[in-house]
Amino acid sequence: MIGGNDMRLSQKIEEGLNLQMHHEFDAAYTYLGLAAALDATVFTGFGHWMRKQYEEELTHAMKFYHFINERHGKVCLQNLIKPDFTTTTPLQAFEKAYQTELDNTQNIHRLYALSVEEKDYATQEFLHYFIKEQVEEESSVQMIVDQLKFVGDRPAALFSLDQRAGQR
Ligand code: MG
Repeated sequence: MIGGNDMRLSQKIEEGLNLQMHHEFDAAYTYLGLAAALDATVFTGFGHWMRKQYEEELTHAMKFYHFINERHGKVCLQNLIKPDFTTTTPLQAFEKAYQTELDNTQNIHRLYALSVEEKDYATQEFLHYFIKEQVEEESSVQMIVDQLKFVGDRPAALFSLDQRAGQR
């Protein structure tokens, strides 16, 4: 596609959208792995938070799925990476979550840069939601990491954070 005269995807953008859909599914699976690790401990509030995030990442992946179809591209599914977080503290879990979000922001920005290069205006508009979303995701996860660092291993404070996370 040159200059945005029709709505068909260029091959590069089709690949980029499929790759990002895959990253979103991978992020979902990472969050489910973190949920499983936390739900096996006393910190089921944090486990609940991670399961909510799992669901949110699935909705992100499906937004890409539908957008690719809408643009008459071909959805290509890939293998998921097996999460392995059997021994984890809430702090370790949220630090992993934060890293996942940082990586995802980079991936979204890379795809946006490609859509600018390819003059794909519809993809740029589609990605605005995700660019905004990543600002919120990074900020909310960073806040929980900071709070967990602040309370350390004081049980009462830790349980209060766990309860709040469980209300998400
Ligand atoms: Mg996401």
